[in-house]
Amino acid sequence: MPFPFSKPHVLVASKLVEAPDLITSKDLKPSSNARDEEFMELALEQARVAASRGEVPVGAVLVREEHVLAVGHNNREERQNPTAHAEISVIEQGASQLGTWRLSETILYVTLEPCLMCVGAIIQARIPRLVFGAMDPKGGACGSMFQVHEEPRLNHQVTVLSGVLEEACGAILQSFFQELRLQESTLAQ
Ligand SMILES: [Zn+2]
Repeated sequence: MPFPFSKPHVLVASKLVEAPDLITSKDLKPSSNARDEEFMELALEQARVAASRGEVPVGAVLVREEHVLAVGHNNREERQNPTAHAEISVIEQGASQLGTWRLSETILYVTLEPCLMCVGAIIQARIPRLVFGAMDPKGGACGSMFQVHEEPRLNHQVTVLSGVLEEACGAILQSFFQELRLQESTLAQ
């Protein structure tokens, strides 16, 4: 599955209706910083765990005030659950830890551009900022196929930074699918 490896680029929400209390303008600035890469490294670690278990390697981290609240990875095969995406896992854990569905002081990091379901969950959780690695031209809903994060008809918009550690985030997916194809062709022989 090809992933375009372009320089980090920014998709800024046209407006942020629910201004979060604890997120500073520094946190919301639409450029990558060292912390973003640090947290994305943790998300990549989760993607590697997923790959080692035969899951499509996507990992996510939920951060609040520069502290990691939750880590998770795609778990769809093990749980045989179509909603067991990495983002849903960290959102559920984060809400449970904080005792509230409103995650308006958090930042979500994920190695792959969220799908329609996950950006929907990010909006439902009122997460103000999303950072992701690789684009998903076949299903991405935050810039590739749809721009749900900045849909003005919704009551919440999400500031998005894409392309953080994009090459590594895309490469782990590429090698996973290459390996899968190899296994399938060996089995077919
Ligand atoms: Zn998803």
